[in-house]
Amino acid sequence: MTGPGPWTHKGPTDISTIESLDIEDFAPGKFEKFWLNISVSALGPVNVPVFAYRGFAPGPTVGIIGAIHGNEVNGIPVIQQIFARLEKSLRSGGVVGTITGTLIGIPVLNVPGFLDSVRSFDGHDLNRLMPGKSNGAAPQQYAYRVFHEIVTKLDYVFDLHTASVGRQNSLYVRADMNDDNINKMATDLSPQIIVHNSSPGGSLRGCAQQNGIKALTIEIGNPSTFQHDLIMRTVDGISTESSHLLPKLYKKVAETLRKGEVIAEIHSVFGELLQRIVAPDEHDTVIIGLESNPVAKLGNRIVHLGVIGNGFLEVVNDGHL
Ligand SMILES: [Zn+2]
Repeated sequence: MTGPGPWTHKGPTDISTIESLDIEDFAPGKFEKFWLNISVSALGPVNVPVFAYRGFAPGPTVGIIGAIHGNEVNGIPVIQQIFARLEKSLRSGGVVGTITGTLIGIPVLNVPGFLDSVRSFDGHDLNRLMPGKSNGAAPQQYAYRVFHEIVTKLDYVFDLHTASVGRQNSLYVRADMNDDNINKMATDLSPQIIVHNSSPGGSLRGCAQQNGIKALTIEIGNPSTFQHDLIMRTVDGISTESSHLLPKLYKKVAETLRKGEVIAEIHSVFGELLQRIVAPDEHDTVIIGLESNPVAKLGNRIVHLGVIGNGFLEVVNDGHL
């Protein structure tokens, strides 16, 4: 078994594209999911996915931003979970009257880096190019659009990161604790560690602060993986205040599977379930290998399964060396 099979292109449904993030245009009490056009490539527009919810009562706009470094993906399910939780509690009538202001979630900010599973944007660190240049090179123009079309529309920013390749991180916050508002944001998150520091020039956090926006950085563990314990801790922390595809693996290598058991699910960046991958009905199987990068690409092998047998029958060619 080498992957989800022929691609269905059953991507997120009814997702429109907008050119400008105009919060006043959102209908209060309605969840919004859309693509925001940020740039253009030789092959067409480059759009970032956006979740939005505007409460009935006026209030501040809070933004949660993930993957400005393209391979730092733990923030993506954090944002999906926060919006899923909010949607569920609104559906049950729980918090409708109590939400003031607007919540914006950008699960993937650096779209080209995310697609290549790399930190950078065209070889540049997008988190050192803020606020960008309207007439600069492609990464500077991208940074400019991100900063002026998204960041300046926010009052509070949670910028979600992970460690770089080859390093490990705890769940920690980087924040200017001398600012009372940022101090409260950081403390309410209950991270393992708070690092009190300033932000490097050109960073999203530093530029936001220079523009009067209250911003902090959350470092959520390690790159190129989904760490569910740290993800859920971050979801809980942020919740106290305020078509590219992501497989969720339920199994581990060397685990045996019953017929029809769920191995993995593929979700869109908006969190919609696109495909469920199950063990075959004909045999009991064992997981020989699994994909470890949670960003699925067309044709990627998600799982390598072996059929469990009682003896050695005729040897077969399974395509592996
Ligand atoms: Zn980062």
